[in-house]
Amino acid sequence: MPKQKVTIIGAGLSGSLLAIYLAKRGIKADVYESRGDMRNVEMLAGRSINLALSNRGIAALKEIGLDEYMLAEAVPMLGRMIHAVDGQTKLLPYSGREGEYINSVSRSGLNVALMDEAEKYTGVRFYFNEKCAGFDCKSGEVLLENTETGERKTVKGDTLIATDGAGSTVRNAMFTGVSRFNFSQEFLEHGYKELHIPPKVQNRLRQRADFNAENYPPANADGSDQKGDFVIEKNALHIWARRSFLMIALPNFDGSFTCTLFLAHTGENSFEQLTDEESLLGFFQTNFADAIPLMPTLVEDFFTNPIGNLGTIKCFPWNVGGKSLLLGDSAHAVVPFYGQGMNCSFEDCRVLNQLIETHGANWEMVFTEYGKQRKENTDAIAEMALENFYEMRDSVADPIFVRKRELETKLEHTFPGYFSKYSMVTFREDLPYSVAKRRGNAQDKLLMEICAEVDDVSQIDLDKVMKKVADLG
Ligand code: FAD
Repeated sequence: MPKQKVTIIGAGLSGSLLAIYLAKRGIKADVYESRGDMRNVEMLAGRSINLALSNRGIAALKEIGLDEYMLAEAVPMLGRMIHAVDGQTKLLPYSGREGEYINSVSRSGLNVALMDEAEKYTGVRFYFNEKCAGFDCKSGEVLLENTETGERKTVKGDTLIATDGAGSTVRNAMFTGVSRFNFSQEFLEHGYKELHIPPKVQNRLRQRADFNAENYPPANADGSDQKGDFVIEKNALHIWARRSFLMIALPNFDGSFTCTLFLAHTGENSFEQLTDEESLLGFFQTNFADAIPLMPTLVEDFFTNPIGNLGTIKCFPWNVGGKSLLLGDSAHAVVPFYGQGMNCSFEDCRVLNQLIETHGANWEMVFTEYGKQRKENTDAIAEMALENFYEMRDSVADPIFVRKRELETKLEHTFPGYFSKYSMVTFREDLPYSVAKRRGNAQDKLLMEICAEVDDVSQIDLDKVMKKVADLG
């Protein structure tokens, strides 16, 4: 392959991973990032603090040799812990098979690990505070603006890959610069806000009127106070599903949890209605009473942290004649309810790497083939992520759905060849998302019908169910 240099826009999760894949092939990568280097500057809150990492993402990390390092820093989540309004809890395992679980990892920890790894290769250079301000689809030149000095310059590599996220500047340039460029953006009526559950010791102390955090630094180097200091089940993704809204909590390595409250922006039970301490605490008392004692900084967090928007972005084509490619959220932002946005973006990098293996630096061929292979799969996960929003919000509190999850767990436990839709999406990196969606939806319909007919899954003949599943094809 002739010596190549790729310009990458955005040093987020997929841009940093991509730089490593390219460097491993001897392809140089100049990565331009609009923010400062997160290893030196404190990042503003806003994006999710932790993320669910699962098999598709792990498969990519394995290929670049970072899987073990990241999993050592992760908290395994074996299932969904459902919190009922009366405070009762029930664990619904993600799989009936051992070893199939998802992992809560720190977004910044993962991003830093990827950047550190990328910088081990001489061919990779990161340029921070360099914002892409425009892209010329005809020449392939990119306009950069330094966010500190305001200085502008243009650069051009052999090709450009845009990993500049859901608000991609490169995609915006393609919107006007590429004929018949298809684009759609659909916002959910719900937004999200991050809240915090501290580790056990801090939690107890914080409830005292004379609590002063400075007097109680964490006992351990990893920030935790003592071993096993999680105030609720550590190895679960906690869900408080309340039909038209929900809250989730993912464990952090330091014993804390990051909660995400998903609420409509306006109308009944919405962010717009929670205007002061009284309305907020009243809302929590009615809906999440068991969580209040765990969240000593609830009021402060709620009125300090921003409300984020959630939406689905679809566009096509993703490439301009081999001059540029959209990858990751810039090409296909999805709502976060399947925990797959990052995992899907990592899979993007994996697929692209395989195509470079086959076609070398024939960028036009690599990018065109990539679009052909990926589009139906990224559309599939976008749709499944939306469906899962309704499932998490409405169904996890529905007894038929709960029986269906129990039945799926039993089937997975009994028949090694059975995979629920969730398992196909989350644990089968060998299966395209589009196949998981088609098979999974057919299975879901069948199992919901079966579970609607019984009061208890023990009444169901598993062999008969498996035969019906096999008949689905
Ligand atoms: P980003 O991570 O957005 O990175 C883009 C980078 O480009 C950033 O560093 C940004 O500063 C930079 N940039 C932007 N504009 C410019 C510019 N003009 N010039 C230069 N640089 C620029 N996914 C999961 O797999 N599991 C989860 O559990 C999960 N949970 C989520 C929870 C929430 C609340 C949200 C919002 C998302 C979640 N996701 C999850 C999705 C995941 O965050 C994204 O899919 C992932 O971050 C996409 O990576 P990316 O590199 O494409 O984009």
